[in-house]
Amino acid sequence: MSNNDKQKLAGKVAVVTGGSRGIGAAIAKRLAADGASVAVTYSKGADAATSVVKAIASTGGKAIAIQADAADADAVKAAVEKAVATLGRLDVLVNNAGTAIPKQFEEATLEEMDRVIDINVRGVFVATQAALKHMRDGGRIIMIGSSVGERVLAPGLVPYAATKGAVKIFTQALAREVGSRGITVNNVQPGPIDTELNPATGDWATPQKAATALNRYGHVEEIAAMVAFVAGPEASFITGANLTVDGGTNA
Ligand code: NDP
Repeated sequence: MSNNDKQKLAGKVAVVTGGSRGIGAAIAKRLAADGASVAVTYSKGADAATSVVKAIASTGGKAIAIQADAADADAVKAAVEKAVATLGRLDVLVNNAGTAIPKQFEEATLEEMDRVIDINVRGVFVATQAALKHMRDGGRIIMIGSSVGERVLAPGLVPYAATKGAVKIFTQALAREVGSRGITVNNVQPGPIDTELNPATGDWATPQKAATALNRYGHVEEIAAMVAFVAGPEASFITGANLTVDGGTNA
């Protein structure tokens, strides 16, 4: 990759929710490598968030970490405001924070279902509204949905899959409202990616790996690469799209 390609987000500012670990941390590092200043949010992992900020700074990039539970609307709004106040503008929002509570649907409690909805859907609505207040024309809103938002191959993920289906149609609907500002809205749908949420080893991993065409889990960098492409200038005509990066799981 030439130096020019690496800096395709030079001068841009990105907010990545849930950027302290896993897919979000890889996205933050990749957007920073492409030249963006990045604000990451987290809920509990202050040390992990600090290490992402330090890793970005050590390669000459600029990043800040902001504590904001995605289920707390006021905290999410304040985080977006702080990112804009500190980094000066907003060009890219990556709605990555998300969680799953795997179990049989009939055993899921109301509290568990509320938690999954509050983080995966309500948190996305709130962060997106807050970001749109500041987003420059030509901005990018990118969701991290899931391949299970389109096709579900295993039991145990009913409320989670429903939230990711909601994220998918939210993306499509919002694309229609903000297109006049040149803002694109897209939904990156990972398949099984090796993170703390979905480790590539153990009983739960075996059927997920077998369901891919490539017979392996994906790496966080493979999702970050798609997000970086969608965030960049070459993706200017892609909007309202669901971009599945799942090793062929849904093929
Ligand atoms: P991880 O659990 O590994 O990391 C989650 C990240 O989000 C952490 O930085 C965590 O920070 C943060 N986070 C969690 N809850 C909250 C919250 N309430 N408020 C703010 N931040 C929060 O998850 P992944 O990286 O695996 O998943 C990231 C996204 O990708 C999610 O939306 C998930 O649904 C989606 N996805 C993942 C797949 C996979 O196989 N891994 C497949 C398909 C989609 P902290 O520690 O501080 O809470």
